[in-house]
Amino acid sequence: MQNLRSLRLRYTQGQPEIRIREITGREEIAVCDAGTSSAIFLINQLKMGEGLSAERMVTADRDRVLAAIYIDTFGSRVNGKTKCLECQQPFEIEFQLPELQQHLESSAAGTVEESGIYCLDECEFRLPTGEDELAIAGLQATEAVNALLQLCVVSGGKQQGEKIQEAMSGIAPVIQTEIKTVCPECGHTQQARFDIQSYLLSKLKEEQKQVYRDIHRLASSYKWSHREILELPRRLRRSYVKMIEDELTG
Ligand SMILES: [Zn+2]
Repeated sequence: MQNLRSLRLRYTQGQPEIRIREITGREEIAVCDAGTSSAIFLINQLKMGEGLSAERMVTADRDRVLAAIYIDTFGSRVNGKTKCLECQQPFEIEFQLPELQQHLESSAAGTVEESGIYCLDECEFRLPTGEDELAIAGLQATEAVNALLQLCVVSGGKQQGEKIQEAMSGIAPVIQTEIKTVCPECGHTQQARFDIQSYLLSKLKEEQKQVYRDIHRLASSYKWSHREILELPRRLRRSYVKMIEDELTG
């Protein structure tokens, strides 16, 4: 029996919560890039039961689901590498993801509307979803903003694009931010960009080699089939591998 985790969706209409299960090798090796389609595909694989598909989730809710997947898979700590803009030396950034989430959510000033429709001056809008993002993928930045507004503004003017975007992120913050860092080599202060979607997906992609090593190790020792190993929840697979390795080195 797999561990299930219920997550409350705060901003998505008509879907108060979803349940996701632990990641397995099958999903880990399926990650091909850090884009929105890959994020949607991953959530749809892990989602249990009927109900809303990840495309229909408000982007901010999707980020919260991705953060939960990250924490379940790798723990709360984020440990990223960046390169100093001044001296070009690489250095590490480390923080706790739940703390960042708390900070972003507490700085959100807007109130969540039950109807999913928000007002700004004369204009009514809804929050962007994965479907909206996929619809504007590949457009240039300015075109993309305009196209997104076309999709999300329900009535009234689309001319106050910037204000509407600000209002959207004030209501439902995505987990994307600039983090102030100081280079340990030269002391230069700079901003490092973090967003949960590309961080999680890149990390899963980086660890694919480890998944293949795990498969090889378990197949060699236990003679389990490729399919059986791929279907093991990650934590269980990793603890079997550790037991085998402890025996070999012990
Ligand atoms: Zn530096």
